[in-house]
Amino acid sequence: MQDQHAQLWVKTKYYLQKNVAEKTFAELFENIHDVARVEQETLYLVVANNFLKTRIDKLFLNKMNDYVNTLSKDLVRFRVVLKEDLYENKSPINESQTKSFDVLRSGNLNQIYTFQNFVIGKNNRLASTISLQVADQPGVFANPLYIFGPVGIGKTHLMQSIGNYILDNDINKKVLYVKTENFVEDYVNLLRADNIERFNEKYAEIDVLLIDDIQFLSKKTQSQQQFFKLFENLHSENKQIVVTSDRPTSDLKDVMTRLTSRFSWGVVADINPPDLEHRLEILKRKLQTHLIDSEAISFEVLELIANSFPTSVRELEGALNRVIFYKTIMNEDLTLETAIEALQPLLKTHRMEHLVLNSNKIDQLLDVICGYFNVNRTELYSNSRKHHVLYPRQIAMYLLRELYDLPYKKIGSIFSGRDHSTVMNSYEKIANGLSQEESIQNDVQNIRSKVE
Ligand code: ADP
Ligand code: MG
Repeated sequence: MQDQHAQLWVKTKYYLQKNVAEKTFAELFENIHDVARVEQETLYLVVANNFLKTRIDKLFLNKMNDYVNTLSKDLVRFRVVLKEDLYENKSPINESQTKSFDVLRSGNLNQIYTFQNFVIGKNNRLASTISLQVADQPGVFANPLYIFGPVGIGKTHLMQSIGNYILDNDINKKVLYVKTENFVEDYVNLLRADNIERFNEKYAEIDVLLIDDIQFLSKKTQSQQQFFKLFENLHSENKQIVVTSDRPTSDLKDVMTRLTSRFSWGVVADINPPDLEHRLEILKRKLQTHLIDSEAISFEVLELIANSFPTSVRELEGALNRVIFYKTIMNEDLTLETAIEALQPLLKTHRMEHLVLNSNKIDQLLDVICGYFNVNRTELYSNSRKHHVLYPRQIAMYLLRELYDLPYKKIGSIFSGRDHSTVMNSYEKIANGLSQEESIQNDVQNIRSKVE
């Protein structure tokens, strides 16, 4: 064993010792004294049984690989094997093991956005199943794939998972991930004659195009035309295109119809905000990827976070990180009170505790409303002005104010960032309607009776 490789393990082991709970370290890493074999930049570590292997693979391997790559100028990775598999030529390659390694080469994809790290629940099951199929058969299964839903619920993650998966299978595939704003910027640069080459260099001969947040093409007529050309070229060559958006194709405003109609050629899939159970599962999974003992944050605190951030996974993550940070600097058991203190700035309101108590109920109320009117959460949060969606949304806004005394601003933030006055109008519309229309009275009463 070359010294240099042995050193990499010594340093990584030391890093783990500092960052992993003592018990976990003793159980998983203490007994790995050496790198057992090195081949093709892979450092093999031998463990005693499959249980240890799986735990390291699932919970720590990505972090270990990230860390070791900060130490070494050559690309290296760890692989954990049983003794009997050490010289097996085809020891099964774990997805997470290849990932860190390959994605470093793959340009603009974020290596943590993988299917493996994507927690599936009722609200994203369809979108993730389809995405996996697309990744498995690019250009064949569904082309284009159009994924939409409100902010912070995993559209970018899912889209990049497709890219990462394709690259895991074939490192030579040219996968381009591009935010729509950047596409527009590239097009503006293209207009300056001397940059045509750069544009072509970037967009020619792509195998897979991942274009994020297409709603930003709105009003950009010329960029739309350029994009349309690109789309047609790629599509005619069966190159996979994946598009995300914050709304359904029919609601894309100021985007030319020949483009929006293309988006419906393939498969359209929506992602809805996660329900409580799903949010808790996401938090538990995120907790495992932090190098702390997963018992360190109590279920009570996880529940508090899950209840306080019902609409966005990004917010959930932010809240969890903050609580973990608090725990680290306080270096003591994290009580519910400390967690509330830690989360205070994220909730941006002095009525925080009040809201925390109520957020479970908010979720429940929205569920009841969706069930009562037979709409789903995405529709409820969307911009659609169709009566069968608009009316339930107004009722929801009214009842959130009426039952839980939520500020208009907070209600607006639940509904995809609508402003204060829109919420107020909805509230007043229902409040006035109540005295005039029996049907509104009935609806409000029926819903109230289910939640009170
Ligand atoms: P969007 O593109 O819909 O605004 P992102 O894909 O950027 O949302 O997701 C926001 C954050 O939440 C990311 O860090 C992402 O990894 C995480 N996230 C979202 N959905 C999930 C999920 N189902 N499982 C795990 N992480 C998720
Ligand atoms: Mg996104």
